Amino acid sequence: MTNAPQEGRVALVTGGSRGIGRAVCLALAARGTAVAVNYVHREEAAADVVRRIEAAGGRARAFGGDVSDPSQADGLVREVLEAFGRLDILVNNAGITRDMLILRMKDDDWDAVMNTNLKGAFHCIRAAARPMMKQRYGRIVNITSVAGVMGNPGQANYSAAKAGLIGLTKTAAREFASRGITVNAVAPGLIETDMTAAMTEEAVQALHDQIPLGRLGRPEEVAEAVAFLSSEAAGYITGHVLHVDGGMAM
Ligand code: NAP
Repeated sequence: MTNAPQEGRVALVTGGSRGIGRAVCLALAARGTAVAVNYVHREEAAADVVRRIEAAGGRARAFGGDVSDPSQADGLVREVLEAFGRLDILVNNAGITRDMLILRMKDDDWDAVMNTNLKGAFHCIRAAARPMMKQRYGRIVNITSVAGVMGNPGQANYSAAKAGLIGLTKTAAREFASRGITVNAVAPGLIETDMTAAMTEEAVQALHDQIPLGRLGRPEEVAEAVAFLSSEAAGYITGHVLHVDGGMAM
């Protein structure tokens, strides 16, 4: 992993207000990157991330926007370009769960997870690719999941979206490689955030038993991997899925 400064670079982190996205914002800012902190509902949480970055001498601004809505995703990228003048790093982190066994899963739960977790990333990549192509430089990191690699009972919608995100990562990597844009994915395992706090104790225990390193991960541990793939030092890595999962999927 690198701590090389990224002065002058601008990052957009979707779902930067909480959990893994928040840790990614702080890790990128610590390397000198200006950070656009996206949120959908929790404006105050995003404002808190901005305050923390500014207090440490960094640059950041909060931007509301629902990535599942194509016009809002386009608007988000446009606002970031207006505010910071460029966009070098896109981290597609925004995600939700609507867990249910397949036999009882509602179409709405399928669609909501697909639209945010998979289509949201597509919207943001499509909007961000143009300025990145003009610059002939870009780093896109998509946050997928161990569930997209291994599957997980009760998460048909989520694991399908996360597996789709891996396909999207590899296609985008191939489409944009000649323009100096790398596209990679990070696949976290079970990480201590609001998302996992909402799971039942039994569900957490069942997954915990599958972690060779014997513990949940921390958002900061995922953020380090994202920061590396977002750095200039990772310029020869594209189309890769980096697992940060305590050994769950190997
Ligand atoms: P979290 O704590 O629940 O935070 C979710 C974030 O996504 C929040 O910042 C939320 O914004 C934002 N968000 C949700 N829907 C959005 C939308 N439509 N548009 C824009 N932002 C939206 O989740 P997390 O655990 O940090 O997870 C972050 C990412 O890592 C997700 O993609 C998740 O699938 C993935 N992941 C998590 C784990 C884990 O164990 N936690 C494991 C593997 C993968 P508001 O604050 O405004 O609500």
